[in-house]
Amino acid sequence: MSKPPEGICPATGKKLDEVAWTDADAVSEVVGAARKAQPDWAAKSLKERGQVLAQVASNILGRAEEIARIVADETGKNVDEVLLNEVSGVGEYVKLARKEAKAALQPQKVAISSVAYPGKKATVEMVPRGVVGIIAPWNYPLSIFYKPLFPALLAGNAVVLKPSEYTPRTGQWLADRFAEVLGPGLVGVVQGAGEVGAALLESGIDGVTFTGSVATGKKVAARAGELLIPCSVELGGKDAAIVLADCDLERTVAGIAQWGLHNCGQNCGAIERVYVEEAIADEFVERLAAVVGKVRVRPEAERCEIGPLQNEAQRAIVEEQVADALEKGAKLVVGGERTEQGLGYRPTVLDHCNSKMKVMSDETFGPVLAVARVADAEEAIRLANDSRYGLNGSVWTGDIGRGEELARRLEVGIANVNNHAIAGSMANIPWTGTRETGTGVAASRFSYSTFVRPRTIFVDKSKKPDPWWFPFDENSRALAEGLIEFSQGSLMAGLKLGGIAKKRVKAIRDWVK
Ligand code: NDP
Repeated sequence: MSKPPEGICPATGKKLDEVAWTDADAVSEVVGAARKAQPDWAAKSLKERGQVLAQVASNILGRAEEIARIVADETGKNVDEVLLNEVSGVGEYVKLARKEAKAALQPQKVAISSVAYPGKKATVEMVPRGVVGIIAPWNYPLSIFYKPLFPALLAGNAVVLKPSEYTPRTGQWLADRFAEVLGPGLVGVVQGAGEVGAALLESGIDGVTFTGSVATGKKVAARAGELLIPCSVELGGKDAAIVLADCDLERTVAGIAQWGLHNCGQNCGAIERVYVEEAIADEFVERLAAVVGKVRVRPEAERCEIGPLQNEAQRAIVEEQVADALEKGAKLVVGGERTEQGLGYRPTVLDHCNSKMKVMSDETFGPVLAVARVADAEEAIRLANDSRYGLNGSVWTGDIGRGEELARRLEVGIANVNNHAIAGSMANIPWTGTRETGTGVAASRFSYSTFVRPRTIFVDKSKKPDPWWFPFDENSRALAEGLIEFSQGSLMAGLKLGGIAKKRVKAIRDWVK
């Protein structure tokens, strides 16, 4: 087993408490404890489960400052930023998640034709899978867990969390808050590197949700396929913003700086590519660079807009992509260098970018806005769609109707007009994408296929045998032809079917006497 990385705050260099890693063998014990706790939890009503989880959310909010400090230490973000982006929304998230759960878990009565299938009724119920594994990365170490965690529990599952090796303390703290209210076992946690995530998959879990890189996501999805367990993978993006000449420049500049640099750009839904109409490109770039140049990186001032990169490997990717863009002709407008302290990188705007540059094709996951100038909206849509990813896209325009039309042409999961990625904090909107963003759905009623399986209860109240049962006789064909005509809308056939069915039932009864 590999060793835990040294826990160091990427902003301040402060040494963090050590965290013990879970032995690969012990992973199945955690899953076993979760399995033991699950039936009692599933036996509660949805309303009861919802009330208990609202209590957990309330406890989290009661200790908001404490968890915000843990996240800030592990990721380097500011405490205020964590409070605002990861903690303050928990209560609202659970409220909406409970509503979504009601819609997703409601038993469905099936409409069955009383002519074709007399005496029969069916109901489809949603049954929890059992134990669900949630494997998460380091960029939003709290919220990427609670997004699937609340729906998985609302559905009646037990859950085992696998935090990133970079942010184990946040995952542990979260599991402890659940244990405090739900008792031990129902929400377990396993700590360690990729091999522990892999061991979790092998431990007999009944479903898995994964957020992280494309390379690992493909491995997880392939293994889940072999194990025949449902799997949801959410694998990042290369989001494009399209800036049209008629946009409100002030709001657009502020919005694009926000969504490009939010969380130091370490957000699968960050704006990484900007396609701006040539007519306003000079003014747009100048104003964007002025705003981006003002964004402070922790710990350079007491109050900063963003933290540093979370780890050295991530900063190396950012530096490599910026160097590649400059070599291929991009113009550095602002930023483009490390901060003096910590793992920070100065918020950066690159102008005159093109599709040959890595910064326009590969996920950057850093504070870099790459701008390409386009002749018109058509060219912008074509270039925005020319990507391996498809999470969010946005169109910034003064013409909302045209914006919506263009947004519909973006090949993404969430197409925005005059905003970006904001749906990521909402429990009732599916967070999903196309292509290498993965097939997963995080949040909303549409995420439940990983957490429940449909089970049909089919009841037959007929006292007589069904008319299509053995044996075949001279009326079997008439029955088949009648059913065909009835299915094509012939009422006369429906009436005739009654008589044919009677003859068939009599024949079957005589046959079985
Ligand atoms: P990874 O995909 O490597 O890790 C995500 C999670 O999966 C972590 O908990 C990781 O553990 C675990 N893991 C690693 N290997 C396996 C395995 N074989 N089976 C099961 N679980 C495994 O992503 P990183 O965190 O290393 O980030 C790398 C890149 O991923 C970033 O540069 C970015 O491009 C992308 N990313 C995308 C995110 C998104 O929100 N879509 C979020 C974060 C990253 P451990 O970390 O301990 O190795």
